[in-house]
Amino acid sequence: MPSGLPRGISDRSRRGWGPGASGTKMIRNLLLLGAVLLSLTTAVAQAPRTVVVRAARMLDPVAGRIVPNPVVVVSGDRIQSVGGNPPAGAATIDLGDLTLLPGLVDAHTHNLLQPDDEVTPPILTKSQAYRAIEGVAAARKNLDAGFTTMRDLDSEGAGFADVALRDAISKGVVPGPRLLVATYALTITAGHMNNAGFNPDIALPEPATLTDSRDAMIAEIRREVKYGADWIKLYATGTLRHVNRETLEPLAQVSLDEVKAVVAEAARWRKDVAAHAYGGAGARNAVEGGVRSIEHGWILDEDLLKLMVQKGTYWCPTLSVFRPEAGLETPTEFSRRVVESHKRTFQNAMKLGVKIVFGTDVGAFPHGTSNREFSYMVEYGMSPLEAIRSATVRAAELLRMDKEIGSIAPGRFADLIAVQGDPQESPIRDEGRRRLQT
Ligand SMILES: [Zn+2]
Repeated sequence: MPSGLPRGISDRSRRGWGPGASGTKMIRNLLLLGAVLLSLTTAVAQAPRTVVVRAARMLDPVAGRIVPNPVVVVSGDRIQSVGGNPPAGAATIDLGDLTLLPGLVDAHTHNLLQPDDEVTPPILTKSQAYRAIEGVAAARKNLDAGFTTMRDLDSEGAGFADVALRDAISKGVVPGPRLLVATYALTITAGHMNNAGFNPDIALPEPATLTDSRDAMIAEIRREVKYGADWIKLYATGTLRHVNRETLEPLAQVSLDEVKAVVAEAARWRKDVAAHAYGGAGARNAVEGGVRSIEHGWILDEDLLKLMVQKGTYWCPTLSVFRPEAGLETPTEFSRRVVESHKRTFQNAMKLGVKIVFGTDVGAFPHGTSNREFSYMVEYGMSPLEAIRSATVRAAELLRMDKEIGSIAPGRFADLIAVQGDPQESPIRDEGRRRLQT
């Protein structure tokens, strides 16, 4: 998340969608089936169990159409068939008048970060053990909000606790979304994710790894891979405190040569690189250097957006974390300009055909409220269906998991959620939810 924001960017007061939330049609239930968790935990001990899931409708985000009366057969943690005759005698979950959807993906999260960490740097005040426990609670909330997969883009100083959380979830020790984790982020001395304003005579742990040369970056990637990273996170620009208040020019943290080296080293280990980049030269170097996704990007100009289309670079806008409702109690002229630029960039990106993926920066604001991003995307002009695609099929492509998640089809993981009404008509909201244990 953009730490170093003007104070108060995080949400310490609002939790979820209050009664004042705008919008015409509320979807009352976002309901998550326990199929994945159930199967992951039971698969170890016994033969895969078969469950038949029925509902009034199913949204197929690939075709962009509603399928009436779907019958989805789940065996173990996978979808066995969609449509056709269900096996006789199998347990059935009938969801009645709900609409089935593939589980949602939030491609920019921080399960190890909590809103209060925006006030006091957790690296200085909380133990890793305590942060891991907070992460367990966060993961559960995010799962219950319908997010069955999350790319967790750095532990913000909680070390390899994200690897531990990922593994505990996948082994069924605790409930949570499937996680793809980045461990430490790569940054530079004086750049993003540095402790700022402390006594230089006291050695303090830093929330990211300070990699001040190409060689240091390469060595850090190897260390992260060794200890379990799925993705490499690179700070290609600074944070908001580095942004020029006049021109909005961000601090460029990396050269083209460095990005190329980072991408090549990550590729050696079959890892992809996500670059935190607002815009300017740092973002251009990231795109030209071949990162797979640009994070935030609230001031990407048209030329760069065109280059992203050309190179197939994905973009996670994380609109939520820059919106004042996410916690900036007193919006300033500067924050208003950032939000305005973000909106303009989002609309240009849509027009030019950039691959926009749903990502929120949840953790900087309360876990379990990522759904707010859908409303912002729709407010800025995206259709509810496209917003859902960004959180399902397109996110699955970004993660190179399109054969595994993001759609309801035979062979995919049985990541299923259900909502009331037709989610093509209004953005998915979060109004009460329950998780079925089967
Ligand atoms: Zn972030």
